[in-house]
Amino acid sequence: MSEENSRIFFHGTQPIVDKPVGSGADFFRLQPGESAVVSFLLKDERDIISIYEHFWPGPGGEGGRSYTCIRDNCPLCIAGNNPRYVSFAPIYNHDKKQVEIMRMGIKFWKNQVELFKEYGSFTDRAYKIKRTGSGFDTTYTPMPKDPGSVEVPEIPEDQMPDIMKLIVAKSKEELSGIVGGASSGSMPGEDSESPY
Ligand SMILES: [Zn+2]
Repeated sequence: MSEENSRIFFHGTQPIVDKPVGSGADFFRLQPGESAVVSFLLKDERDIISIYEHFWPGPGGEGGRSYTCIRDNCPLCIAGNNPRYVSFAPIYNHDKKQVEIMRMGIKFWKNQVELFKEYGSFTDRAYKIKRTGSGFDTTYTPMPKDPGSVEVPEIPEDQMPDIMKLIVAKSKEELSGIVGGASSGSMPGEDSESPY
């Protein structure tokens, strides 16, 4: 996968579903040193959904949330906040026994797509994903399990997360309002919870 050939969706003029944190979708999260066994719920590479995404801190630098970059005259870009290229895919978390959305940076997905190609399948095996480090030093290492060693339950279509709905962008006006409401022009910090 590369920025060039993966799907990029922009919905700059549509209203608006707030993105996580806490918007009802369960995101895949690990603390430093933790691991979990997951299965990727992908039919092919094109099911990996990619966007440019801003992290914008809350008042006083506390909390904050992510916003889909609208690219064209994006108020958050103009304010100097650099968007990241991130990609999303549905997974089954065997440790938590639930469907989740995995949000990772391009390095993780490039490596993962190489593994899928090597094995000739997206779904023939599960992967133990281990997180080491934190902040910008965070690394997620996939360790392939033997095929058939972990069973994926049947996931009904209506239990699959609607990633497209989660990444719908706010309008330019709304993003301008977010910039205007920012506390004392503080530069965005790293979300320690964000799984990059
Ligand atoms: Zn932007």
